[in-house]
Amino acid sequence: MPSVFIKTYGCQMNERDSEAVAAQLVAKGYTLAPSEAVADVILLNTCSVRDFAEQKAIGKMQNIAADVRKHHPEVVLGFMGCMAQSRGQELIDRLPDVDLVLGTQKFHHAANYLDEILAGRRDKIVDVAAEQGSEATIREHLLNGNAQKSVTAFVSIMQGCNQYCTFCIVPYTRGEERSRSIPDIVAECRQLVSQGVKEITLLGQIVTSYGKRGFGRAELPLGQDAQQRVPTTKKTSFVQLLDAVHEIDGLERIRFTAPHPKGYGDDLIQAYARLPQLVESAHLPVQSGSDRVLKLMHRGYTRERFLGIVRKLRRAKPDIGITTDIIVGFPGETEDDFEQTLSLAREVQFDNAYIFKYSQRRDTPAAEMPGQVPLKIREERNHRLLETINEIGKRKYDAFVGQRTQILVEGPSKKNPARLAGRTRCNKIVVFDGSERHRGQLLDVKITRAGSFTLYGDPAIVNL
Ligand code: SAM
Repeated sequence: MPSVFIKTYGCQMNERDSEAVAAQLVAKGYTLAPSEAVADVILLNTCSVRDFAEQKAIGKMQNIAADVRKHHPEVVLGFMGCMAQSRGQELIDRLPDVDLVLGTQKFHHAANYLDEILAGRRDKIVDVAAEQGSEATIREHLLNGNAQKSVTAFVSIMQGCNQYCTFCIVPYTRGEERSRSIPDIVAECRQLVSQGVKEITLLGQIVTSYGKRGFGRAELPLGQDAQQRVPTTKKTSFVQLLDAVHEIDGLERIRFTAPHPKGYGDDLIQAYARLPQLVESAHLPVQSGSDRVLKLMHRGYTRERFLGIVRKLRRAKPDIGITTDIIVGFPGETEDDFEQTLSLAREVQFDNAYIFKYSQRRDTPAAEMPGQVPLKIREERNHRLLETINEIGKRKYDAFVGQRTQILVEGPSKKNPARLAGRTRCNKIVVFDGSERHRGQLLDVKITRAGSFTLYGDPAIVNL
């Protein structure tokens, strides 16, 4: 059977989509190639959030076409995901070596389309149409084959985005928000737990909008137990989903990403206090500290509202880890606006932040706004903000030294496979000396050293 190599660009949603496509192909008899050089099929799962990500994928495909095709002329080449969706046929016109262009609602057709192309029944396939029900087609998992048990898994709960932030291409590449039903998601989570998964991250572009469109609240079937445990009556569909997933026996930890700050109502804040398996971690994309810029971005909250959410979260869970996304150099951002972002970062004391230099995306309102900020200034602001975030992060990580903390052991450390790595509830990686049998265990470790956004634990106090 043919072998496939998938390279993924961009966010965790893309990683999850690639995993599901790989699992679907494996189920059809494909094997996973260890490198592109030996693969019969090479798929690039693309990101469109910034121009840089698109250029990287296009450059990669050009290299593959020039290099791999020379030694392996029959290799099938495909683009999937966000750039495939937004550029469609244009990709084949520009790169005639490409055989398949698969949009964001079409991942589950990958195996059939590849079969057709490999069998010579079809030459080029471009499919970027909308497809009803596609939000429920990202459900297969690889779980590291069967050789090593996966401790953590990602579950896609919805597709699309209706937020229409003025800088963002996602609503145009991922389509309208569509949510899977609670029973469908819970069944997938249960299955994962029965296969040894201990931690599940619920995934969506804006998970706090879960269930707002696509299915009515009245349809949400909740288990009796979940209903009884809930003290409030006013709960969003997302919190109802958290309640339902929380009922699964054997599931140790629940995470989710990405929420929208304006979706942090009191019901969600209470959920952190009330659901022991929901860990103390929140990725809250703030984007800017300036009200003027937030309004231009169409974010739907003010700096004060954001700070209020952080205060409430810390009141509910004082140890909560809070990370964020920030864009620097949004059109019209002045030095004063940027200073407000710096001051917000200091005030919140984020545990970490992903900083993005604003990138003009076609068909988005911000691309046409006056006051586009020159690259040099965007780079300089990126650098200054990074310094501030690193400084705050260092202090926060240093404060863990000497403390005991619980980690879920995920497996070998990526940087040093001779050691093991786990994650704290507040989402910090801890590297320690342990053995394979610790994989999947909740362990108390003592933190002995803090590196750059990594902690190191003392094996001496681990129950060996
Ligand atoms: N759904 C999340 C939200 O907006 O709350 C995040 C989704 S987006 C794929 C991830 C991050 O990319 C955003 O939070 C934003 O910081 C960044 N981003 C999106 N569009 C961008 C653009 N045009 N230029 C630079 N960064 C951008």
